[in-house]
Amino acid sequence: MEKFQSVIDKVRELYGKDRDFIPLHEPLFIGNEKKYLNECIDSTFVSYVGEFVGRFEQMVANYTGSKHAIAVVNGTSALHLALVTSGVQQNDIVVTQALSFAATANGIMYTGAEPYFIDVDRHTLGMSPDALRTFLNDVKLIDGTATYVPTGQKVGAIVPMHTFGFPCEIEAIVELANEYNIPIVEDSAESLGSTKNGKHTGTFGKMGIYSFNGNKSITCGGGGMIVTDDAALAARAKHLSTQAKVPHKWEYQHDHVGYNYRCPNINAAIGCAQMETIESFIEDKRKTAARYADFFRNEKIEYLTEPENCRSNYWLNSILLQTVEDRNAFLETTNSNGVMTRPAWTLLHRLEYIKDAKHGNLENSIFIEQRLVNIPSSVRV
Ligand SMILES: *Cc1c(COP(=O)(O)O)cnc(C)c1O
Repeated sequence: MEKFQSVIDKVRELYGKDRDFIPLHEPLFIGNEKKYLNECIDSTFVSYVGEFVGRFEQMVANYTGSKHAIAVVNGTSALHLALVTSGVQQNDIVVTQALSFAATANGIMYTGAEPYFIDVDRHTLGMSPDALRTFLNDVKLIDGTATYVPTGQKVGAIVPMHTFGFPCEIEAIVELANEYNIPIVEDSAESLGSTKNGKHTGTFGKMGIYSFNGNKSITCGGGGMIVTDDAALAARAKHLSTQAKVPHKWEYQHDHVGYNYRCPNINAAIGCAQMETIESFIEDKRKTAARYADFFRNEKIEYLTEPENCRSNYWLNSILLQTVEDRNAFLETTNSNGVMTRPAWTLLHRLEYIKDAKHGNLENSIFIEQRLVNIPSSVRV
């Protein structure tokens, strides 16, 4: 019997014994998706104007408890636009975590700002307040502007990320950021439906973003959403997402470099149907997580459970192997036996195009990078 055969058997028990290949996360359409798509096509409003866009925004605002939601083409553009709207400018520093998907750094770099990578906590996998405090030791408020003393750069924003659906220590991070007047843009691309002390991830900072990519908990093909409680920021984000066009009956006036980031109605139609099913998806994912937790208790493998006082959407279930060799053996065995598993991302400060970015001590990130593996986590039909 192969090492890790019991894990392969468990995944197959959960996701289908006769399936050749079990993906990490696949989308599921069991609601009104086709009905809404037909309505959308019949109406001819398939593009940026149409009733589903507003409905999708309202559904996400209601679900997360945000005052405003702006639908855009994907999570990466949502992050970029939220940062621009929050006032991030070229040559600013934007603090984020080294353990994240490349899109986090890319959204920052589109603004011309420089990412600064700090460490994550072991128990949340998300931004560490202690690491942020260490970074802020080098920051001074000068005329109300948070300034990174060693270079004189403005600290434009802090971008914590809720890794694999686990809420990070967001309250402590917000408190620190407020002391220095630095806006927080939460990268909650992975954590729609996750809460900390009953409050949704994405709603703690000035702005938050979600992704509806095909591999996320719910999808609309491609799509993203910005949420905020600030009416002026919401209006600004919406304006910039529609080519910064000044409303007029016929004239083309644009008052800023605009973006073509609006979410098409056809994607929003799928998004509305998926929002109707999200709670049942998350309940199902949480049941699967409980079954994994039971199973791994008897194996010599650490299964990661949600942080205290949190409700995780368990977007991707994660385990920690004991060494990098063990991790590699696990990845090799599972993937060559039709069970898709993936390591944590390569830490962002190691990617060739960002390797010159500044970073703090990253020992937890490195520990996790060497040991973590994501295992199949789809909603079970
Ligand atoms: C998926 C993801 C994004 C980007 O979302 P897209 O819709 O794919 O552009 C950004 N940040 C994180 C952490 C993600 O996982």
